[in-house]
Amino acid sequence: MVSSVGTYVDKFERMLEQYTGARHAVAVVNGTAGLHIALKLAGVMPGDEVLVPALTFVASANAVTYCGASPHFVDSEEATLGIDPDKLREYLKNTTEQRSGACFNKKTGKVIRVILPMHTFGHPVRLEELLKVARDFYINLVEDAAESIGSLYHDKHTGTFGLLGVLSFNGNKTITTGGGGAILTNNRELAQKAKHLTTTAKIPHAWDYRHDEIGYNYRLPNLNAALGCAQLEHLPGFLESKRRLYHLYQAAFQGFIGGDLFSEPAGCQSNFWLQTLILNNEHKKELEPILAKVHEEKFLARPAWTPLNQLAPFQHFPSMDLQTTENLAQRILNLPSSTCLGPKD
Ligand SMILES: *Cc1c(COP(=O)(O)O)cnc(C)c1O
Repeated sequence: MVSSVGTYVDKFERMLEQYTGARHAVAVVNGTAGLHIALKLAGVMPGDEVLVPALTFVASANAVTYCGASPHFVDSEEATLGIDPDKLREYLKNTTEQRSGACFNKKTGKVIRVILPMHTFGHPVRLEELLKVARDFYINLVEDAAESIGSLYHDKHTGTFGLLGVLSFNGNKTITTGGGGAILTNNRELAQKAKHLTTTAKIPHAWDYRHDEIGYNYRLPNLNAALGCAQLEHLPGFLESKRRLYHLYQAAFQGFIGGDLFSEPAGCQSNFWLQTLILNNEHKKELEPILAKVHEEKFLARPAWTPLNQLAPFQHFPSMDLQTTENLAQRILNLPSSTCLGPKD
């Protein structure tokens, strides 16, 4: 069985549960599809708003629009490169009201249903503070953990703190299934619904084709799941290599005055998916020339994503002041991060 059904999907899901500590894992065709379904299951309905960092990959915001909802962009912080919980709390205090167990945006009148923090380049956000904000303002929390397999916050795997969490196994991520993803949750009912919705909402039956709602063909093919099982066995080794590379860069940039190598936030264990140099404010004009030079030397290096609020399809969506995001986006340089790199490179 190469597709649709087969034993590797189940095996991969059980292995993911064991590795992450999530009670349930549902494998899906890619991380974006996982986000779509996770947001839907967290209650996101057409017309709602979802708080999304502007400093993230476009998939986070795309998935929100697939639910008919609006991304509402929030600022990140220097300490984690993820959502700033203190700034978010102040913002929500001033711009929302809580009624009948929901959070209403006073300006748009819409319900803010979910906060979608993302663990940038594998570095965990301040989950404890964000979970408190979510609770205090009656908002659900879903983690975009697409970049953070192997990253721990206070010794617990990222993606297992929110109501749901989503991993990606795209080709550029720490482990890959070619393309793939998984929805994590500790809630059995949500896990069953995730499985149902991602497999065309078919009622299990030996021969009957009956579907009890509009579902999606978001299942991970068996072939890709087999690759996932093998990749998970290598994950501890990959994480070691990534950490070793971080220490190599740390030694190489000792005494460098142009910026700082980004280290894992306090109390966290990062997977160091992408190694990150953050230029000082005085040196941010040098980002473009550095990128040009590095590419000329045939090394892969990249800047951060263009903040999503600046992209044409997202310019008209609500947003808080994004000062830190806009500044960070001009200073972030991701260095070559392959697990194959060593001292000779
Ligand atoms: C990779 C990634 C995704 C999407 O994952 P795909 O598997 O490529 O669909 C979502 N969010 C973030 C932050 C990512 O880096």
